Amino acid sequence: MCYVINHMTPFELQIHTRRERAKARELRASQWWRQEIGKGVCYHCRGRFQREELTMDHLIPLARGGTTTKKNVVVACKQCNSLKKNLTIAEIRLKEI
Ligand SMILES: [Zn+2]
Repeated sequence: MCYVINHMTPFELQIHTRRERAKARELRASQWWRQEIGKGVCYHCRGRFQREELTMDHLIPLARGGTTTKKNVVVACKQCNSLKKNLTIAEIRLKEI
């Protein structure tokens, strides 16, 4: 169930990311996700937010082999989501060096 990025070729990773993004779109339309968003709490900073300010965040990013499952998906405010994305990119860059 848990993919490791190193085990995937760039091509496989591309296919994987595309498939998981499609799954994320489906999950966003689900009753479960509406309930999660409805709680109005960011998983990372525990702040309370309006629905419009909350986004879907993958704990293990798709680009690193994460999947779109209820276990890997959390509600994050826009600020935390972009902060985390930047960190992840920095981490990836660091790994490439
Ligand atoms: Zn937050």
